Amino acid sequence: MLDSLNRNIDYLRISVTDRCNLRCTYCMPPEGIEWIPHRAILTVEEMIRLSRLFADMGFRRIRLTGGEPLVRKGVEQIVRGIKDLPGIEKVTLTTNGVLLAAQLPALLDAGLDGVNISLDTLDRAQFAAIARRDELDRVIAGIHAALAVPGWNVKINCVPSGENDAQLIPIAALARDHDIAVRFIEMMPIGLGGTKQRRTQAEVLAMLEDAFGGAIACAQPDGGGPGEYVTFAGFQGRVGFISAMTHKFCNRCNRVRLSATGFLKTCLQYETGADLKALLNAGANDDTLRAAIAQAIAMKPASHHFSEHGETMDETRNMHQIGG
Ligand code: SAM
Ligand code: SF4
Repeated sequence: MLDSLNRNIDYLRISVTDRCNLRCTYCMPPEGIEWIPHRAILTVEEMIRLSRLFADMGFRRIRLTGGEPLVRKGVEQIVRGIKDLPGIEKVTLTTNGVLLAAQLPALLDAGLDGVNISLDTLDRAQFAAIARRDELDRVIAGIHAALAVPGWNVKINCVPSGENDAQLIPIAALARDHDIAVRFIEMMPIGLGGTKQRRTQAEVLAMLEDAFGGAIACAQPDGGGPGEYVTFAGFQGRVGFISAMTHKFCNRCNRVRLSATGFLKTCLQYETGADLKALLNAGANDDTLRAAIAQAIAMKPASHHFSEHGETMDETRNMHQIGG
């Protein structure tokens, strides 16, 4: 559906849980967090029902995220239920990869169309330092399992933080050796991310050009999205940049987010949106829910203003709570 700025909003990201099996330093405090109680989280049935309403309103693609979506029991039921909805073309998932190899057969059987796997380093000790868990081996196994699925859509997402400079080349090289997209995501001042260093798109591109030669611009992949893509001589795949800070893409924004607690968040930075869980708890019918969704989308903010007005404007909650 169109928002008040004529942007076609057809992409929903659902956070299926706030919980996670890693503790990435830019996303979760070392001691973990107080998890949201189960009763406050959308049930599988509620997620599928709300997805049906979004599909009725023109949404075509849904991505499951978190927290870590693969720690949610019944995640494959959510995939299957959404994939079966009329109008839904693609159901994908963003994961840290730890449980991917084990769950891939069930996810494929449920109809999952692709995965984005987060990977900040290929160095085991550094992985354990960034994610505060020694899980690199299982992540690598998850990446290999995903790459072995014929014709599947696999993307690698990496957040350059200064800490992992030496790893950006080997990670980008995954797009040389495989026909996949490796995307570098600028650290955003969201929760703990605001306390971290960030490498900008320009800095990362300069490092890649030093290693691989001049970048060759690429067309946007199908479905639009915020990335800018390049490739290099000898690469099978592409390298993307998602640069919310230095290359703001709000004028092309096509998405809204549904939190694990059922809050429809229409911009990463702002609390504008609709509490759909409260409406569900009050017994709202489909028409009431659709009207609340439509009203929230109509009021979607024009853009984020991270860091333009000092730190108070930045999002204080962490990414695992918002649904990254
Ligand atoms: N647990 C899953 C994972 O790590 O892929 C899904 C949720 S995680 C919040 C989604 C993505 O958000 C990850 O790629 C993570 O690196 C990224 N992320 C977390 N905090 C961020 C921040 N402050 N700025 C930019 N990206 C961030
Ligand atoms: Fe967990 Fe993903 Fe956040 Fe890391 S970035 S702590 S894997 S939710």
